[in-house]
Amino acid sequence: MSRRKNKRNPDVPSPVGLGGPRVEAGPAGYGDEQYLVRQIPGARATKTYRCPGCDHEIRPGVAHLVAWPADGLGGAEDRRHWHTGCWNGRGSRSVTRRWS
Ligand SMILES: [Zn+2]
Repeated sequence: MSRRKNKRNPDVPSPVGLGGPRVEAGPAGYGDEQYLVRQIPGARATKTYRCPGCDHEIRPGVAHLVAWPADGLGGAEDRRHWHTGCWNGRGSRSVTRRWS
């Protein structure tokens, strides 16, 4: 009997030392909606993005993260750049845009 609350991660390969994406609940906060999340260090942030959480810009040089559906069906256009704080708080506030 495990005390850990196991998430169901059917076919997600575990990132080993590559700083690969991790699996988290999607912006809607539903447990069955999983997203892959990758951290973008400030040094790698070279463009301005629009955060869907607050609808403000993410400036170059600002560390943030990228999230996309874990079903693997989406392409690069399904990736969204979020402020780290906005992503972490996504379940406690409503997002300004629905993605679908
Ligand atoms: Zn934001």
